[in-house]
Amino acid sequence: MSDRPRVTVLGLGGTIASVPAATGGVAPALTAHDLVAAVPGLDAVADVDVRTVAQVPGAHLGLDDLVALAGTVDETLSDGADGVVVTQGTDTIEDTAFVLDLLVGDPSPVVVTGAMRNPTLAGADGPANLLAAVAVAAHGPARGLGTLVVLNDEVHAARFVAKRHSQSPAAFTSYPGALGWVAEGRPRLVLRPLGRRQLPIPARTARVALVALPVGDDGQLVTAAVEGGAEGVVVDALGGGHVPATTLEAVGAAARRVPVVVTTTTRAGEVLRSTYGFAGSERDLAARGVLNGGLLEARKARLLLALLLGGGAGRQEVEDVFVDPWPVA
Ligand code: ASP
Repeated sequence: MSDRPRVTVLGLGGTIASVPAATGGVAPALTAHDLVAAVPGLDAVADVDVRTVAQVPGAHLGLDDLVALAGTVDETLSDGADGVVVTQGTDTIEDTAFVLDLLVGDPSPVVVTGAMRNPTLAGADGPANLLAAVAVAAHGPARGLGTLVVLNDEVHAARFVAKRHSQSPAAFTSYPGALGWVAEGRPRLVLRPLGRRQLPIPARTARVALVALPVGDDGQLVTAAVEGGAEGVVVDALGGGHVPATTLEAVGAAARRVPVVVTTTTRAGEVLRSTYGFAGSERDLAARGVLNGGLLEARKARLLLALLLGGGAGRQEVEDVFVDPWPVA
C-alpha cells in the first residue's frame, strides 16, 4: 500500500474534456480516465482514482446535479480518499464550487478545476490545471479551507471566486484575492478564509429567479417571476444596491410574498446598508422587506437562497443567514 495521498478525480465534462464534435466545434466526450492519462507526472503527486460522473457542458448542470455531487464528494471522502478533484466546464465552476462549499461536510480538500483552452488548441491548459488541482487536493494544509478552485496555478476560495473573462486562461479571479498559488508543483497557501457556513443537504432545491434591474427598468420581470412560481427572487441592483424608482412597487410587492435579496452588479464590495435615503436606495429597500445580499454576488446569492428554501428554511432563518453568511472580522 502506497503512503502517497489518495485523490479521486470526478469528471463532469466541460472544455477540459472536449474533442471535435460531429456538429462542428468541440463538445465534452473525454472520460475522467482520459483526462488523468493526459497529465504527465500525476503519478508522482498522488494515487489517483477516477470516476466519470457526467460529460456535459457547464451550462447543462442543474442545481439538483450539484446537490447530488455534494453527496458523492462526501461519500468519496468517507470511503478513504484524502482529497477530491472535480473537473467540469468553467462556465459554472463558481456555482459548483459554491454549492460544494456550503454542502460538503468533510473538511478534506475539495478542488474544482477545468480548462479555458480545449485539448485541440495550442497551449491547452487542462493538464496543467488538473495537475495543480490534484497537488492541492493532496496537500494537508488545504484541509478546512472549504471548497477551492484551482486554475492557472492559482488557489481560490469558492466563496469569492468568479469567472471574469470568456477566454483567458487567467479567467478566474477573486475579490478580495486568491488564497495562494502553485509554484514548481508545490501548493503555497498564504491566506485562510474566516470560518465556514455549512448547510445540510436539502431535500430539494427551490426555484429562485435572478432578475437584473438596470436603468429604466419597470420591475415587470420581478412580478412575472413571482407569478411564474419563483419561491425567492434575487434582484441584481446598481452600485451600492440601488434600483430604479419605477421598479419599487413590483419589488415591494414581491418582497411581501417571497424572500427577495438585493445584490450589486459591481462584483466587489458589499451592498450598502445605511448610506442613502432616496427611493430605491438600500435603506428604502430594507424598509420594504428586501434582504441585503452583502458580499455575495447575484449568482451566489441565488444558490444560497435556493438551498436554504429547498431545505425548508423559514423567513427568519433566511434573514439570519443573509445578515452574515460568513464571519467578517
Ligand atoms: N463552455 C464550456 C463549459 O462550461 C466552457 C469551459 O469548460 O471552459 O462547458
